[in-house]
Amino acid sequence: MSETSGNGSDILCVLSSNEWDRSAEGLVGAGRLLSDKTGGKLIAVTLGEWQDSALKQLGARCHQVRVGQTQVSVSGGIESMLDYLVKLAEEIQPASILFGNGTVEEEISPRLAFRLGGSSIGDAQALTISNNRIQVTRSVYGGKATAVMELQKSPAVVWIRSRAFPPAGPLPQSGSFETTVIQETSPESIELLQHHEDASEGVSLEEATMIVSGGRGLGGPEPFEDLKALAATIGAEMAASRAACDAGWVPHSWQVGQTGKKVTPELYLAVAMSGSSQHMMGITDARNIAAVNTDPDAPIFKHCRFGIVEDYRNVIGPLTEKLKSRKK
Ligand SMILES: Cc1cc2nc3c(=O)[nH]c(=O)nc-3n(C[C@H](O)[C@H](O)[C@H](O)COP(=O)(O)OP(=O)(O)OC[C@H]3O[C@@H](n4cnc5c(N)ncnc54)[C@H](O)[C@@H]3O)c2cc1C
Repeated sequence: MSETSGNGSDILCVLSSNEWDRSAEGLVGAGRLLSDKTGGKLIAVTLGEWQDSALKQLGARCHQVRVGQTQVSVSGGIESMLDYLVKLAEEIQPASILFGNGTVEEEISPRLAFRLGGSSIGDAQALTISNNRIQVTRSVYGGKATAVMELQKSPAVVWIRSRAFPPAGPLPQSGSFETTVIQETSPESIELLQHHEDASEGVSLEEATMIVSGGRGLGGPEPFEDLKALAATIGAEMAASRAACDAGWVPHSWQVGQTGKKVTPELYLAVAMSGSSQHMMGITDARNIAAVNTDPDAPIFKHCRFGIVEDYRNVIGPLTEKLKSRKK
């Protein structure tokens, strides 16, 4: 077993979102935090179609950028991306490989760690190095406690809550660029039977500044149309609890929480959801939480800045109309 920083001191950041957004900034910020501590290089690897302007931002903040060009979408070519990342990591021997908190990243990172004989952990909210090993701070027990975990094997492959990390400023000198075409590979042990990507409009949930979210108390898919009308009026994105997603009322990509997306909006409006600890794990970084619930003892009210104890049917329609009339 090698120590976390035993092989090398460089840090590899894997960026698949293909734009220079707040998540990319946070991921690179986390990478620089570690590379400043190890004294190694920060190497960014991009997957997907990156615009020159976004690559320029990246190059200004990293010592090296490896541009991975691919014909397929990242989620459609996970096996190829994985093979490419294994080869890259074997060449660079980084102390740590960091990913953001997207669905694809959460799938790739433990598989990559296994292929490299390293350690894997997800949902990092803080990173540090102690005794030559990477330590990760994350929530446990449905957000009721915080644990600091030390990764024993190198490389430490970690997916992080990107937006929880401050952006890094430019380096005195821009990094070098190297482009590789990612070859399509199809391992014999895996046969891809179907590939489905949910159509997405607007910004991603992780980037949203306002979110309207619905729970089981809505009773079916139809009331989500009323929530959508409210969201459209204020320019918010839509989300849901796992109960609503599992019932098939809305797509699984809307799920927020421990096993869903981690969001950081200015306003999170939770409608007809109880505020289970698993749901709250996805919104701990929301600046303001507001809720509509018929039960005055619903746990969600403990986390709220604003709360309305009322049937959602008496709130959502009138609120939407009021906000529409104020916009005129
Ligand atoms: C390992 C694990 C992981 C999980 N991960 C997640 C996760 O990532 N995300 C997640 O959301 N859950 C997750 N869950 C599920 C979680 O435990 C809860 O079951 C779920 O969050 C409940 O969803 P809900 O709040 O919509 O439903 P409920 O808990 O049933 O709450 C419904 C609420 O609606 C209110 N209500 C009813 N009618 C009305 C009305 N007319 N008007 C207003 N309010 C009304 C009720 O008072 C109630 O508070 C996980 C569970 C496990 C075990």
